[in-house]
Amino acid sequence: MTTPTIELKPSAHPLVDAEREAILADPGFGRHFTDHMVTIKWTEGRGWHDGQLVPYAPIPIDPATHVLHYAQEIFEGLKAYRRPDGSVATFRPEKNAERFQRSARRLAMPELPVETFIAACDALVGQDKAWVPAHGGEESLYLRPFMIATEVGLGVKPANEYLFLVIASPAGAYFPGGVKPVSIWVSEDRVRAVPGGMGDAKTGGNYAASLLAQAEAAAKGCDQVCYLDAVDHTWVEELGGMNLYFVYGNKIVTPALSGSILEGVTRDSLLSVARDLGYEAVEERISVEQWQRDTENGTLTEVFACGTAAVITPVGTVKRAGGEWHQSGGEPGEVTLRLRRALLDIQRGTAEDKHGWMHPL
Ligand code: PMP
Repeated sequence: MTTPTIELKPSAHPLVDAEREAILADPGFGRHFTDHMVTIKWTEGRGWHDGQLVPYAPIPIDPATHVLHYAQEIFEGLKAYRRPDGSVATFRPEKNAERFQRSARRLAMPELPVETFIAACDALVGQDKAWVPAHGGEESLYLRPFMIATEVGLGVKPANEYLFLVIASPAGAYFPGGVKPVSIWVSEDRVRAVPGGMGDAKTGGNYAASLLAQAEAAAKGCDQVCYLDAVDHTWVEELGGMNLYFVYGNKIVTPALSGSILEGVTRDSLLSVARDLGYEAVEERISVEQWQRDTENGTLTEVFACGTAAVITPVGTVKRAGGEWHQSGGEPGEVTLRLRRALLDIQRGTAEDKHGWMHPL
């Protein structure tokens, strides 16, 4: 496999300091983008080529470009954090690079070498370091690597040309006013993914498929949708953009990977962090009936969701067609908050990185 170098062609007119600082004072999520982006092309017979860091700008797209019609697209999401000494590090970028390769295989796209994925992220964060928010809060620089099929033509087949890009967007604290539980609608008719489908790939189509159920959840007064398995409509899978964990006293359980669940980097990290803190952490099937019953009989003490964006989000209210219940009195649970703090402290460089997860620039 070819590993292209990334040629640096920085902007002659980056945003002035005062304007960037004004954005960083209240970045929100995904609203503002840094001065640069990385692009790398892939062409059949030639492989990866023309790696560049260039000013952030629109990309010209022919109306007949494959991705616009057949959705051959994959993406990733990871964060760079500012550490107490002012340096910057990304969290487990190799895990995202490996998942990007798995997603590429599922969508019949070329696999970007892990070291090129990491080099592209490093080049962008290195160039736009001033966009990484200051140490202190939970702010970060969110990186969005993605790849699209750029062949022009309407034949349905794997494209013979692709474009890989990395863009970056400063992200504010997910819970600026303190951690708040989310409410969840358990969808028992709509599914996110099916066995043999694309549920374990990070591809735009999965998110398009989730929007209607998300709108239905909002109409029921809920923040997020929980999907069940597509065959029995029984087994808990995940939320539209986060994995789930169930706390049984000293034991924490996350649904076992089924092929239609996205394997979250946060989910994986929490298995280790929980064990480090002395919890038993396991991957098991859990049914929605068990979820409701064990909450009602008091054995299931807390539930939380996890993902790169919010790290850990407590679950408060759960609604399904046949009932409604509350986790830990609708308040963030003790284990939930302890795990959240432990993982964030590693990410922000205030706790020992004993697993070697941080990738300094
Ligand atoms: N499930 C889905 C469907 C997601 O989109 C995400 C976010 N990438 C996650 C789980 C959590 O994954 P991660 O911890 O890698 O962000």
